[in-house]
Amino acid sequence: MPELPEVETTKRGLEPHIVRRRVLSVNIHQKQLRWEIPSHLPTTIKGESIKKISRRAKFILIKFNSGTLVMHLGMSGSISVVPSAEALKKHHHFELVLDNATSMRFHDPRRFGSILWQKNNEQLSLFKNLGPEPLSSEFNENALYLSSRARKKNIKAFIMDSSVVAGVGNIYASESLFQAEISPKRLAGKISKKRYQLLTQCIKQILSEAINNGGTTLNDFSNIDGEPGYFSQVLSVYGRNGMPCQRCDGTIKRIIQNQRASYYCPRCVPVTTVPDARNR
Ligand SMILES: [Zn+2]
Repeated sequence: MPELPEVETTKRGLEPHIVRRRVLSVNIHQKQLRWEIPSHLPTTIKGESIKKISRRAKFILIKFNSGTLVMHLGMSGSISVVPSAEALKKHHHFELVLDNATSMRFHDPRRFGSILWQKNNEQLSLFKNLGPEPLSSEFNENALYLSSRARKKNIKAFIMDSSVVAGVGNIYASESLFQAEISPKRLAGKISKKRYQLLTQCIKQILSEAINNGGTTLNDFSNIDGEPGYFSQVLSVYGRNGMPCQRCDGTIKRIIQNQRASYYCPRCVPVTTVPDARNR
């Protein structure tokens, strides 16, 4: 599943190819994605120029004069810019035909992705309860610590809650907790401020490294040039069930929490009952 680094990589890859280009036409080849693609888009966007591309959580926002195209890659989505003359592939569901003989195409075999429209001065409900961006200064140990107090959920579910911080997915939650030496089983409300400081740093650092490396290789995600990202080989715990820990003699364990796989080392990241007994 594309996580925040893949989405950011996609946004950066698209930027030089689409910004300031005019849309000659909009083609909806399959309207049934996670939600139905708004049928007015071909009329609304036709003739407009792309002002800007940005990202919020795992959404890509393409700004036009009359509003914003909001795209989500879902489980298996990818976006590419190709010559308009190139044949469509089976899972190309949506395309913007641009004024330089290229087209921006959305490809999504599993169709959990979405393409929505946000009018100017309106906010889609999807964005209403989103917490801060993990790489912004609003995401810091004070904010995280304060919102964690009295929380009964485990720390993994807590940092994957998009109202707490937007866009820390399953892979990077496991990786960040491992780096910060926090068991995914610990309760969010029992973790010290000092440990939250470390966790905040780890989340920012790991996401930044992943973005610089072009995202992970997972399923059929590929970056804008059609080349797969290559961050996966430097993941420390995710997907390494039964393999040796990189920090100690322990073995990485896989457990299921909130219907998602978590990976951790029970030896060097034990579940302490005393809050932060290990003062490292
Ligand atoms: Zn270990």
